Amino acid sequence: MSTLTITDLHVEVETENGPKEILKGVNLTVRSGEVHAIMGPNGSGKSTLAYSIAGHPKYKITSGSVDLDGVELSALSIDARAKAGLFLAMQYPIEVPGVSVANFLRTAKTALSGEAPKVRTWVKEVNAAMDRLGLDHSFAARSLNEGFSGGEKKRNEIVQLELLNPAFAVLDETDSGLDIDALRIVSEGINRYMSSGDHGLLLITHYTRILNYITPTFVHVFVDGHIVAEGGPELADRLEVDGYDRFVKAAKVDA
Ligand code: ADP
Ligand code: MG
Repeated sequence: MSTLTITDLHVEVETENGPKEILKGVNLTVRSGEVHAIMGPNGSGKSTLAYSIAGHPKYKITSGSVDLDGVELSALSIDARAKAGLFLAMQYPIEVPGVSVANFLRTAKTALSGEAPKVRTWVKEVNAAMDRLGLDHSFAARSLNEGFSGGEKKRNEIVQLELLNPAFAVLDETDSGLDIDALRIVSEGINRYMSSGDHGLLLITHYTRILNYITPTFVHVFVDGHIVAEGGPELADRLEVDGYDRFVKAAKVDA
């Protein structure tokens, strides 16, 4: 069992007009077995939170901490964070021409476990994961994310999630651009990942529809770089009805 603890996290990015603070004191604890939905309007800093946890060099932690089982992640390289059990599915995954899906998966698995997976069983595992996500086996030969449709990108991320089996996953807008069938298939994959009971999930979204398939343990409303409200699944239902307006206005009054 493990715990991801984010404490008073402040993060800035460098802009043309100098440094700009995007995260303004984020506090969040995710334990194994829990699904935390981070919901907020566009531009509230949700992706910044995901990148900061993963260690993207553009995002500078000015104060606060991100801690996985007592290990301060900000001191670790991106690779070391992955080894520590962290996985990030980006909102806009990068294209890697010349590196096939199969190659990427094998390299990532080897890096994480310290030894290359046995070819025969590995190919079977990859194909089975592709089957579950409704991807053709020939998909494994394609260049990573190059020319992938929105749905293929997200399905591919869930293939990665299932095969790499990280302790903690941060999924940024995994539901965006998915049609109804793909949304269901991707959600089922995420539920399979969570079913072991020893994984933690940060599910970032600005729509409530994925939460019809994945029941969050906690819902956090994210506005202007920090969490402004917290609750259970019922909070997502209220957002569906009321929108973010009330929270955005309240955040402005506070500022
Ligand atoms: P969300 O994912 O909630 O839509 P983001 O984290 O992508 O929000 O962005 C939050 C804010 O930070 C936005 O106003 C965005 O323009 C700004 N921002 C994020 N990254 C950068 C960057 N590299 N340079 C300048 N501004 C940025
Ligand atoms: Mg975003």
